[in-house]
Amino acid sequence: MANLGSGRNAFEDLARLMGGPRSKDAAKITMHVFSVDDNPAFGATVSGDLTKWRSWLGPALRKFMRERGLPEMTARFDYVHFSPTCSPFSILKQTGVSGERHLEEGVWLVLLGMALVLELNPRVYTLESSWRGKQTLRTLPLMEPLASAMHRLSLCSFHPCDYHKFGTWWTNVPRTVWTDRMPRECSERNLCLHKLWTFHHRRVMENGQGPEAAAFPETLCRLLVEVAMATIRWHLVGDD
Ligand SMILES: [Zn+2]
Repeated sequence: MANLGSGRNAFEDLARLMGGPRSKDAAKITMHVFSVDDNPAFGATVSGDLTKWRSWLGPALRKFMRERGLPEMTARFDYVHFSPTCSPFSILKQTGVSGERHLEEGVWLVLLGMALVLELNPRVYTLESSWRGKQTLRTLPLMEPLASAMHRLSLCSFHPCDYHKFGTWWTNVPRTVWTDRMPRECSERNLCLHKLWTFHHRRVMENGQGPEAAAFPETLCRLLVEVAMATIRWHLVGDD
């Protein structure tokens, strides 16, 4: 899989578990994670600018395959996840608290990142951005064609995460497969485990920065890989 723009995430730990000697998975599926982030502190496979991927993608992929002893890249990626940086669309930027907004730059990054997703030609894709705000990604005209592929998830629904934040997700995973496996969002009628036990969320920041805020809970990464594999297994997104 390829993980674009969300640093070195729990996908990597999951890949180690799946391919490791203690893996209980009878199918012995080995997952390789090619991650990209422009912030070197996030420890991704490639510390690169997603808007300039044409200049580094080829050499970076060849190096990645060589280091893992994999054959030359001819096949498609099974799963590609893309998290464009949320700050151009965030509430704080919109109210001017943290300076001017850079909406055009944000849209440019999304468009070029989506071109990279197309280049990697995945069987399954997910795209994630923040939910809240007047001009978040989901409200912009460029996302209109993907309206039927949109879902909302609350991060705190993925135990043990206590970070309450709604995210917008777009995917080609069929809606039934997605809703069967993903937890219902945190609400007054359906509280997450953390709020149920402690009556509050420890952190509710919408505009969190840094590796901790960017990281997805391990349970979320696991479910994402599961829905991707279920979709591929059932040939619901077509064969090549
Ligand atoms: Zn919650």
